[in-house]
Amino acid sequence: MTVPCVAVDRERGEEVRRRLAEAGALAGEYEITVENGTIYLPVTAREDVPPPLRRSIIERDPDRRETPTTPADLLGYEPSIERLGDIVIIDEDDDERASAIAKAVMDSDIPCETVVNRASPIEGELRVRQWDVLTGDDTETIHREYGHEFALDITEVYFSPRLATERHRVVKQVETGEHAFDMFAGVGPYAIPMAARGAEVVACDLNEQAIEYLHENAERNDVADRITPLQGDVREVAADWTGWADRIVMNLPHSADEFLEAAVMIAGDDCLIHYYDIQHEDDPFGPGRTAIEDAAGDAYTVSVETERVVRSYAPHEHNVCLDVRLTRQ
Ligand code: SAM
Repeated sequence: MTVPCVAVDRERGEEVRRRLAEAGALAGEYEITVENGTIYLPVTAREDVPPPLRRSIIERDPDRRETPTTPADLLGYEPSIERLGDIVIIDEDDDERASAIAKAVMDSDIPCETVVNRASPIEGELRVRQWDVLTGDDTETIHREYGHEFALDITEVYFSPRLATERHRVVKQVETGEHAFDMFAGVGPYAIPMAARGAEVVACDLNEQAIEYLHENAERNDVADRITPLQGDVREVAADWTGWADRIVMNLPHSADEFLEAAVMIAGDDCLIHYYDIQHEDDPFGPGRTAIEDAAGDAYTVSVETERVVRSYAPHEHNVCLDVRLTRQ
């Protein structure tokens, strides 16, 4: 019996799978298959598929999926877990409950080598968290996001899989040949896909380990020739890149305002800044807009192109992004 499947390039697979899942159109009882760079996503019915994807539907004969055992099947409740490569992250204050979740994760069909629990908030200049390692011992992993691979060690660098959709939103805007400067690059989840789209990328981070992983990840994703990794305080390297950038990514939400002077120095005549911030829900965009206008002074015309809530950060606080164009006067 044939089943309608949406057929797309493998690189778009994750984005399309999410869109289909959001539309409730994925037929989860069938296997997703990949052949010759094309991914085939079984769907419930043509009418359930968002209209722009309907022309990619073809009939296929996928295998039926054996229902995997989930941690919820074993626990009787749905635990809150996050996956980062083959590491499963839980967020549980109660030690007994944390152990029970770790055991259920390992006994389930989730491919997992290590289970960790959050042991601190994200802290310090390097934005790294402390972890309780509950099962396994390897805190290094390879995480896949939108067709790219990122090696990282969660005890040494920052990485949040929750920001995948936001990163992809920014990366999709990048054009071949543009100059993109990632001021707080981490292990490269913006820098590497931007380079893969043909940008010349400069990627800076204070964290030595993050920059080591960035080098490794640039090689791993075959974009090392288009990325210049820099280790250090971006304020100290900014002068070397005066007037260079067509695009700047500023993903250091708690203190990005302290780096706006450097960003304005790096900006070219026409530059789009993706400025991340954490602000109260009453005025999530105002402080960022004002800080950017103050930093730009009379040198640039400032126009806010997008104001976007990325996620809720804490009660009444939002993590937001402003896409702001600076045009030299
Ligand atoms: N963009 C990456 C991502 O999405 O995974 C990392 C973002 S993380 C929130 C912020 C990064 O800024 C950390 O890796 C930290 O080491 C780096 N950082 C902090 N202060 C810095 C500075 N003065 N100059 C350059 N990087 C800095």
